[in-house]
Amino acid sequence: MAEFVLGIDLGTSNSVAAAERPDGPEVLVDAEKRGPQPSIVSFHPSGSVLVGHEAKRRRLIDAENTIYSAKRLIGRPFSSPEVQKIAKQMPYPMVGGDNDQTIIEVRDQRLTVPEVSAFVLHHMKVIAERTLRQTVNKAVITVPANFNDAQRNATLAAGEIAGLDVLRIINEPTAAALAYGHGKKMDRKVLVYDFGGGTFDVTILEIHGEVFEVLATAGDTYLGGDDFDVLIMDRMVAQFLEQTRYDARQDGAAMERLRSVAEQVKCQLSGQGRSVVQVQELAYGPDGAALNLDFVLQRDDFEKLAEGLVDRTFAICDEAFKLAQIPINVVDEVALVGGSTRIPLVRESVRSYFARAPLATINPDEVVALGAAIQGASLLAAVAPPPSLPTASAPQTTLQGRGMPAIPPAPGETRPPPPPKPRPLLLDVTPMSLGVAIVGGYAKVIIPRNAQVPAEQMEVFSPGADGQTSVSFRICQGESQRFEENTELGELILAGLRPAARGEVKIEVTFEIDTNGVLKVHAKDETTGRMQDATIKLRGELGASEMSDAFERIGPGGGA
Ligand code: ADP
Ligand code: MG
Repeated sequence: MAEFVLGIDLGTSNSVAAAERPDGPEVLVDAEKRGPQPSIVSFHPSGSVLVGHEAKRRRLIDAENTIYSAKRLIGRPFSSPEVQKIAKQMPYPMVGGDNDQTIIEVRDQRLTVPEVSAFVLHHMKVIAERTLRQTVNKAVITVPANFNDAQRNATLAAGEIAGLDVLRIINEPTAAALAYGHGKKMDRKVLVYDFGGGTFDVTILEIHGEVFEVLATAGDTYLGGDDFDVLIMDRMVAQFLEQTRYDARQDGAAMERLRSVAEQVKCQLSGQGRSVVQVQELAYGPDGAALNLDFVLQRDDFEKLAEGLVDRTFAICDEAFKLAQIPINVVDEVALVGGSTRIPLVRESVRSYFARAPLATINPDEVVALGAAIQGASLLAAVAPPPSLPTASAPQTTLQGRGMPAIPPAPGETRPPPPPKPRPLLLDVTPMSLGVAIVGGYAKVIIPRNAQVPAEQMEVFSPGADGQTSVSFRICQGESQRFEENTELGELILAGLRPAARGEVKIEVTFEIDTNGVLKVHAKDETTGRMQDATIKLRGELGASEMSDAFERIGPGGGA
């Protein structure tokens, strides 16, 4: 039986799984034929765990036990400003755990963020297995191009907890480009405009045959479809207050309902000029009478509200062009990705900003998962070529997309199997500079932003005192010269150094960002040539023993 590798787009709002079938990549749907599944996990009083659409419905009535937007938290230490900010907005309680991990408390459980994401990944695995009618254990998972090292590591951990062998972490825009360009023999510069639920990302790539090279990437992690919902909600709240004197802001349950209705209104306005909704029994008046909200919004009015948010995406596109050092007019195609690109104002604005019609031939909700499935199949082919094919020369030639020369069969000889599909080569870049803390509170850049990955850079470190046998350095990602203004990843610890006079021992430390975008280090004593202990202690990382604890304890529930 053919083996499949799942391509999973693990989104902030929705997740999608796909797999490469003989006819090409295909989105794997649930029993109701739905591909995208809400990335929501709800803990039911019965002890079962609901994931996806069922969990989204639970959010309306049981918000404190329903976890959404876990992707905003993944790989972030509890004390970080982002988590502190999100903790204030979320209906579910969060606390700090060991090693500054973010712990979510629901019912009587304590969950780490990778465990929450593991429930989503497992749900996608169950849906896939149902459609493919076989067990699937391998996956390629996508992450935003601007995810830092800790976020990528935490995503890998989530896959592992869900029982998936994660062959590769790839960037969402690169996956989208792959879905558009694989097997097309393109020679074009493509801009991927990804406007999702919580974030906006833009990436400029150059596609040469099967080589997908990222030229630049930029984004805003606080700009997405949710922001449009909030604008509509604000209107609803104001109108309700004016008509009923009831302040819905004080009422969590009413706000959850309004958020959900606001999203519906927004989506309706993508298809029609006007949206009319009635929200029954949104609240009760002082006399106990039900208070309803009758709400009408014209698309024109929505567009006036939304304009500012849409404009912000183009400031980020400008930044990407500056980084790529290319002018806007050399872009050949603009590919739309993400649910928010269904908004007509977004499409029109993209068209006028780039002076060309955007590509939207692939469903913007599915394109990332399809690309991940293509990459998954190609990785599988790389490790396990079909036994009947000549393997010695195949990988190199196919990597370049040239395929194998066709040799006609001799008379009487059976025709050889078809040549393997060309395999894509992804040349990605690191979204942030990697640095170490140096004296005076400054950060020294080791691997700069936008460097092609895998990337490697050697630095020499020396203990500052006589006889010192270990040294540690704080490491960070970010663009500020001040260490504190960047994201601190953790500590690099060099141990077991040979005791010597100050300045005598020099340790060559090699920093490597691998194909997953994950940081690795190794170190060598310059004089003796001996390999040195070098470990990175990441802030907020799960220890091996803590992995999958709650996942095993509670067990995944809520099937496909
Ligand atoms: P993410 O990648 O962040 O998980 P998605 O690409 O799935 O996000 O996009 C989700 C966002 O797209 C949500 O804010 C959702 O409301 C919005 N969205 C989905 N369909 C439409 C539509 N028809 N019109 C406007 N917005 C939409
Ligand atoms: Mg997305």
